[in-house]
Amino acid sequence: MKVLKFGGSSVGTPERIKGLIEILKNYHSPFTVVFSAFSGVTDSLLDMSRRAAAGDASFRELYQKFRERHHQAIASLLSGEERDQVMADLDRQHAELGNMLEGIFLVREASPRTMDFVVSYGERSSAFIIAHAMRQEGMPAEFLDARTIIRTSSEFGNAKVDFGATNALIAAHYAARPGTVQVVTGFIGATESGLTTTLGRGGSDYTAAIIAAGLDAEAIEIWTDVDGVLTADPRKVKKAFTIPKMTYAEAMEMSHFGAKVIYPPTLQPALQKHIPLYIKNTFNPRFEGTYITDRRDPSGRAVVTGISSINKVALLTLQGGGMFGVPGIAGRLFSCLAGAGISVILITQGSSEHSITFAIPPDLAEKARQQVEREFGYEMEKKMVESVKVEEDLSVIAIIGENMRYLPGISGRMFQALGKNGVNVIAIAQGSSELNISVVVSHADEAKAMNALHEAFFLSDTKELHLFMVGVGLIGATLIAQIREQASFLKAQRGLEIRIVGLANTKKMLFREEGIDIADWETILGQSAEPVDLPAFVQRMKALNLPNTIFVDNTASEQVAALYETILESSISISTPNKVATSSAYEQYRRLKQVAARRGVQFRYETNVGAGLPVLSTLEDLIASGDRIIRIEGVLSGTMSYIFNNMREGVRFSRIVAEAKRLGYTEPDPREDLGGADVRRKLLILARETGLSLEAADIGVENILPAAAAGAPGIASFFEELEKSDDHFGEMIANAARQGLALRMVASLEEGKARVGLKAVDAGHPFYALSGSDNMIVFTTERYKERPLVIRGPGAGAEVTAAGVFAEIIKIGNYL
Ligand code: ADP
Ligand code: ASP
Ligand code: MG
Repeated sequence: MKVLKFGGSSVGTPERIKGLIEILKNYHSPFTVVFSAFSGVTDSLLDMSRRAAAGDASFRELYQKFRERHHQAIASLLSGEERDQVMADLDRQHAELGNMLEGIFLVREASPRTMDFVVSYGERSSAFIIAHAMRQEGMPAEFLDARTIIRTSSEFGNAKVDFGATNALIAAHYAARPGTVQVVTGFIGATESGLTTTLGRGGSDYTAAIIAAGLDAEAIEIWTDVDGVLTADPRKVKKAFTIPKMTYAEAMEMSHFGAKVIYPPTLQPALQKHIPLYIKNTFNPRFEGTYITDRRDPSGRAVVTGISSINKVALLTLQGGGMFGVPGIAGRLFSCLAGAGISVILITQGSSEHSITFAIPPDLAEKARQQVEREFGYEMEKKMVESVKVEEDLSVIAIIGENMRYLPGISGRMFQALGKNGVNVIAIAQGSSELNISVVVSHADEAKAMNALHEAFFLSDTKELHLFMVGVGLIGATLIAQIREQASFLKAQRGLEIRIVGLANTKKMLFREEGIDIADWETILGQSAEPVDLPAFVQRMKALNLPNTIFVDNTASEQVAALYETILESSISISTPNKVATSSAYEQYRRLKQVAARRGVQFRYETNVGAGLPVLSTLEDLIASGDRIIRIEGVLSGTMSYIFNNMREGVRFSRIVAEAKRLGYTEPDPREDLGGADVRRKLLILARETGLSLEAADIGVENILPAAAAGAPGIASFFEELEKSDDHFGEMIANAARQGLALRMVASLEEGKARVGLKAVDAGHPFYALSGSDNMIVFTTERYKERPLVIRGPGAGAEVTAAGVFAEIIKIGNYL
């Protein structure tokens, strides 16, 4: 004999009921089947009685809907005389329910006892209809009201089963009905005097286990709307997958921790009688689902079996100097809570004995506080303990699994995953059974924490990055195109999935938690109804609170840079080619680095110097590995590089500048390049990375422009003025050439001094042979003294800059 149970969602509509009757028709071994109320019906019955008790006449509309829903089910599942009979029977019962509700409305009162009676109509109606539908399909089905076989205490709403009496009733009932299929109401039972009780919300699972234990059944099958017990709640963790095998103990931990898929008491009778449980999907009946027994899965799978959470808890703390070394405090604390009927979810006490913290359901927090303060009134008056601290809006998250036992490093992995995602752990508990490690976190962090843990323990070979990108100009658009091209490689070879969740340009912004369609982002962003608002963008990013979030700033904007601190403080990493933040006041630079370090996130800006060239990371590696920087020299501006590389005798300086401008190598106003502002910023960043606390003003920049050209009112007049100096520049070049030298605009850092100026270099110098708009950076260090370390290549351009940012995103991803 097997006992099957179908949950509310499996019997949500007549079509679904037809589907499950098909499953049952093909069943070979003898079975009993338990049904829940149609989905939503229990909630609705509770709602009706509460409204009636509150004097709200709208309960009648809900009641009408309830009747219609069952009428429709009868009409579509049954036919002929049987249909009329069932319709009449149920009408009679529902009229009784209607009277009951009117009574509640009149007396304005619905006791737990009355409520139990009201909700019993849900299971009584569903099982009744389905039993008849099964008969019509030729099965020897018989409706069984569980109140005749399940004997309980009179704790209405959550009655305890009297197994002695119940087992006897079950045995007698089944012995008298060989060869039949009993179709049983889930969830309900009755007291010895015949009062209707319920077994607690979700209790139909328990009904199946009670009957199975009474019959010494061979198996229990819980049919629901998901593929078994999953590694985490699929509503919170999209990538959750089926756990094929687990132990009763693991299932117990999972379900106590809020995995709704099994009602926790269900496991007790199953475990006692060693009856295996199968969790199966009504909508995917061929799938194996989850198999629960007392044997550990020997197939050496993941160390953690599942992750579960309790959505809302409150944390109470009793603390004070007078608690140290005093025996009996914990005893008194928990007895007084037990006395008030408050069950405690989690307890922690540090060995300093200074405080005891415990978690309870939030609706009991106030009651618990009063209770404890009354119990410790004397100690409080004597200032031995303080008043009880209450923290609300918290969640408990637990990782669960038998394989964690005796295995070091699990909690390390857990806390690392939480830490890197900026989830603050408020309390921790691990029982010595090592079956579960629980942490208390802010409720707002629940989903992020669960996803981060799920990734750390189950998907260690895959990772999902969530990007929020501001600026989709040349660099941004190129970056998106590169990500798109590389997506399948990264997924297949690196297990990395990059999802652009937020996108903003100067006009609009857009958010898609599931990821913006990267092939069509321009259209989608263009159609977005949300005008851009940078602080709001950051707020949304924070509110979404996704694991592995990276903010990418592809602008040159000060407003965006001003938001970095908030972003880093929210434990979100940043990658940016924007130089504003790193080259403004030193204090700001230092603070951002500090916040990033404190928050355990990354603040990266490799493309600030030399675009995609690995300049800053090389410098970082040199310093980290103990090398000493003697000198850094660089040709750091592609624009200046182009101009000086093309200066030959007989070519007019103003012509070359004009040509560079025409080729797009200069800023719209070439004076920004020629004046050295851009190079100054890059050198400043380099200097700061070596540990110097320099400001922009500390960097001497040689002014090569004649005053009249520098001060010209417009660009045209600037060029006119510049032409007047062509002879002066021509002379300079000729001079240098005669001595076998070339002129280069060089940024240099030596002995703490940073400066930018024209330098004449000879043929032996690496800068001598530079061509085009290339950048070159020369590190002379203790280790690279005789022959310096040289980095050379294109130091500007959307393609290489975007590639630099992309590489950085992947690096941050690997770190996370
Ligand atoms: P039924 O109506 O069949 O009793 P429930 O709604 O009580 O179904 O339980 C099934 C639901 O439990 C699933 O739809 C899923 O959303 C939720 N759930 C929560 N945690 C888990 C988990 N770890 N594995 C599977 N389902 C879970
Ligand atoms: N119908 C009841 C409830 O919703 C019992 C169950 O579905 O398991 O709680
Ligand atoms: Mg359920």
